[in-house]
Amino acid sequence: MQLQLAMHSSPRFSTWLWFNDWKLQIDAGDGVSQQLGYKIRKIDTFLMTHSHRDHIGGLLQVINQRGEAGGFLLGHPAGGRSWREMENFALKFNPGSSKSAMWKPLEEGDWLDSGVEGRLIQCFRTRHYADDLPQNAPRSLGFQLIWRKNKLLAEFASLPQKEITELALSRGREAITAPVDEKWVTISGDGCPINAEIARGSQLLVHEATFLSPDDYDAEAAGDDVGHVHSTVLQALSVAREAQVPNVLLYHISTRYTDQEIREAIRGVATELGLKAKVWAALPRRVYFDVFRERPLFEP
Ligand SMILES: [Zn+2]
Ligand SMILES: [Zn+2]
Repeated sequence: MQLQLAMHSSPRFSTWLWFNDWKLQIDAGDGVSQQLGYKIRKIDTFLMTHSHRDHIGGLLQVINQRGEAGGFLLGHPAGGRSWREMENFALKFNPGSSKSAMWKPLEEGDWLDSGVEGRLIQCFRTRHYADDLPQNAPRSLGFQLIWRKNKLLAEFASLPQKEITELALSRGREAITAPVDEKWVTISGDGCPINAEIARGSQLLVHEATFLSPDDYDAEAAGDDVGHVHSTVLQALSVAREAQVPNVLLYHISTRYTDQEIREAIRGVATELGLKAKVWAALPRRVYFDVFRERPLFEP
């Protein structure tokens, strides 16, 4: 994968992802400021998938650290009351840097501009809270990183480069090109398996896989007692297969498992599914500064 992704994901404790090329951080679990240090100040967009403590435990410190460097966007699902409470608290607790945060409630389908040329983000609705009704504003979101490229129109494609350059000069680049959106990364956030149609066309699917086996899906650990739902490795990789994505990264894997158990389970399921994708896993308890420098756990 041509992408630098730094991250940590231990469900119940902390999850955060940092896409350097997009100046984007997704979620703000405990420890993210400590790990990224002053790199936090170079991030312009912070997007939260939902308000569980393992995803926002480090948010206050992020606001303090990033806020000292000026304005930044803090996007979050439009549903739920936690965000307004946090915003108000942050403003009272540390008004100086908290004023730099532009809290933005997000709905399904919303677009954001990362500020890096051509790099956009689109929100989609996910299902993580059992009582999150579709007619209400979403309480959990997934995100897609979209790369908008200006491509030469088909009618000019066969011309020699010299003529294309001349046309670009005489008519302007806009006259001979059209913007094409490439889905780069789809990130599921916590929850049920996402709709494969959303992921289709992505270079990379980042999907949660809290449980290695459906037998491990114990409602209490999953949070079903308070209405949370999660995915298994089989469900996450089935989405990847149906969506025909070439690369998958599984994360949010329960800390109950050893690294060995995680590797074996993922290889087993990918083999069984005959998956045509490379698979990586962000192991719990571990901080990655470039997760794709690791060798994939599975290759077709
Ligand atoms: Zn979580
Ligand atoms: Zn959650």
